[in-house]
Amino acid sequence: MSEISRKTFLKSSVIGAAGLALGALVGCSEAGKGSTDATPTAANWDREADVVICGAGGTGLAAACSSAEAGASVLVFEKDSKPGGTTALSGGVIQAAGTRWQKEFTSFSDDTPDRHAECYLKQAEGIGDEELIRSLCTGVPEDVEWLSAIGINFVKVYGNCHVPYAEELHADRIHVYEGGGGIGQGGVLTDAEYAEAQRLGATFEFSSEVLHLVYDAENGVSGIIVSVGGAEQRVKANKGVILALGGIDRNLELAKALNQQQYWDLTTQQSMISEFASGDGIRMGLEIGAALATVGGTIDFDLATGQATDNSLPQLPCVTINASGKRFVCEDATYAYQYRAIFQQMTQLDGPTWMILDQNMVEQGVGPWAADVDAAVTDGILIKADTYEALAEALGISATNFVNTMTLWNENVEKHGADLEFGRNTQLIKLDKPPFYAHLNVSANLGSLGGLKIDSNAQVYDLTGKPIPHLYAGGMNSGGWYGLYYPGSGTSLSGGLHFGRVAGRSAANA
Ligand SMILES: Cc1cc2nc3c(=O)[nH]c(=O)nc-3n(C[C@H](O)[C@H](O)[C@H](O)COP(=O)(O)OP(=O)(O)OC[C@H]3O[C@@H](n4cnc5c(N)ncnc54)[C@H](O)[C@@H]3O)c2cc1C
Repeated sequence: MSEISRKTFLKSSVIGAAGLALGALVGCSEAGKGSTDATPTAANWDREADVVICGAGGTGLAAACSSAEAGASVLVFEKDSKPGGTTALSGGVIQAAGTRWQKEFTSFSDDTPDRHAECYLKQAEGIGDEELIRSLCTGVPEDVEWLSAIGINFVKVYGNCHVPYAEELHADRIHVYEGGGGIGQGGVLTDAEYAEAQRLGATFEFSSEVLHLVYDAENGVSGIIVSVGGAEQRVKANKGVILALGGIDRNLELAKALNQQQYWDLTTQQSMISEFASGDGIRMGLEIGAALATVGGTIDFDLATGQATDNSLPQLPCVTINASGKRFVCEDATYAYQYRAIFQQMTQLDGPTWMILDQNMVEQGVGPWAADVDAAVTDGILIKADTYEALAEALGISATNFVNTMTLWNENVEKHGADLEFGRNTQLIKLDKPPFYAHLNVSANLGSLGGLKIDSNAQVYDLTGKPIPHLYAGGMNSGGWYGLYYPGSGTSLSGGLHFGRVAGRSAANA
């Protein structure tokens, strides 16, 4: 975020409520120093622990385990009445390279964490933090070994779909455990982490909403203010506070200020994210002058088809067109890469984008509509026409542009066996068999990208480039370890698992 938009956000927001004067907050942020009105003195803390963890999702639970294992007393506060967060809603798949499971279940036996990092760096398009990305890819194989040690049984590894400019760096790296892979099955993972954290002695407080960090410029973060059962408590952290509260997913105000694609999703598309994902950890970091990293993208995919979420599944024979009737993206590139382009086309042209299919879909039996395509037409899920011109008319787009688009696609695959425009490499077949179908693209949002700037010890940085003493963050509360589109399934949980465990150790050893 630019400094201008950050100030605009701070000035226009209500985040200075509950004891924080907004003027003081902005002053504190701009100068990187000062203290909040809410700062307790040593005499009025209600409770204390070595490490105080905010959030009991995948990241917070991983942090609780590593902190407790390092010998710290650990207190975890969670707004929900149970552990898990968005991680429990997820499919639970995790990316890692060079693991024994990758060697066993894929043909990529020579893949390495270095290649994984190169792939992520390329997909981060120059704005990713190389230190963080390398630290994630190097560390996550050991993290998945730890998951195995606490009872997670990996049974499959598949790959995300390619990105045309990073083709040679792709490999199958997405680890699936027994009972995982489907939406909601991330609970297997968080149940195992929660059981381990309890075994190691971490204490949990549920239905407890963390409100603010306690901070002063001299000492950094010394604790938190949390609402437990409606009563505010001031909790001292002797060694460190870990923010593991997820991204700004459901926070309309922060999305509007920081992440246009997330705002567009929240206001016009579908959302599948947890009701508790209100971006509190990022807001609390901003309150004390923390810096942000790689804020801007989203985890978006096509819920109706699941197109390009899994390279082991057949991709739909289709092209994707914009409101001008033209192609604009590689249709078998990983889903969030496509949805970034879809978002841009929809906002640039102020009109929808469509997936165009033909009778090949039915004959191949690929996708959700092939078995009963007429029902999909009757239900209004697909629009059907017998000619390109009639389909263009039904969609309200230029027939000339659309016919040219389809003609070019058909010529390229016939003459060259290749997509010369956007680098598609599956389903290189002519789409000239009537009837033709159109499916309106709607983004299903799985979260926003970008969070507090951290280093490879998961310590949070301020706007002046200095670490904030005793403050750590991980998972989607942090940013920098990806770019402005989600590089593929399993990345988010890898970052939560890895930087959660690192944050826990760093805080315990501070
Ligand atoms: C349907 C779906 C499927 C997905 N599948 C995958 C997948 O298979 N693999 C993958 O890598 N990614 C997947 N993702 C993305 C991934 O699940 C999330 O990005 C990730 O779980 C975020 O983890 P986290 O630890 O940062 O946040 P969370 O797991 O959401 O944890 C944050 C916790 O903080 C709590 N909290 C929030 N505010 C407060 C507050 N003020 N006080 C106290 N507690 C608070 C929340 O209740 C929550 O428990 C999926 C997402 C969705 C929605």
